[in-house]
Amino acid sequence: MKTLFEKIIAREIPAQIVFEDDLVLAIRDINPQAPVHVLLFPKQVIPRIAEAGPEDHKLLGHLLLKVAEVADKVGLKKSGYRLVINNGADGGETVPHLHCHILGGRHLAWPPG
Ligand code: AMP
Repeated sequence: MKTLFEKIIAREIPAQIVFEDDLVLAIRDINPQAPVHVLLFPKQVIPRIAEAGPEDHKLLGHLLLKVAEVADKVGLKKSGYRLVINNGADGGETVPHLHCHILGGRHLAWPPG
């Protein structure tokens, strides 16, 4: 069965796409937790960071290297942003397809709730 993000990659579900290349896609979160809230994920499914393996090191490197480019594209370069990856139930993961949250546009409290 396809994950929600695979359906978005396949254009079966609409999304506001902010960046795409052959390996990753970035979209606006449907339920933003900050003025700017973008999800960046690999097109290849890794369910969560805890399940990534050595074979994924190039893809994970690519994903992380794209964060700054995507953040710049949505206007967060100067003000800064937070990068979040939720893993498992206590982490708040709801979509089992690894994704980075890029949050910004306001000052974010620490520690998170
Ligand atoms: P997580 O809880 O870390 O697994 O993050 C999943 C994120 O996906 C949440 O922030 C949701 O608001 C977001 N989300 C769920 N459905 C959609 C959708 N159709 N388009 C964009 N974002 C979505």
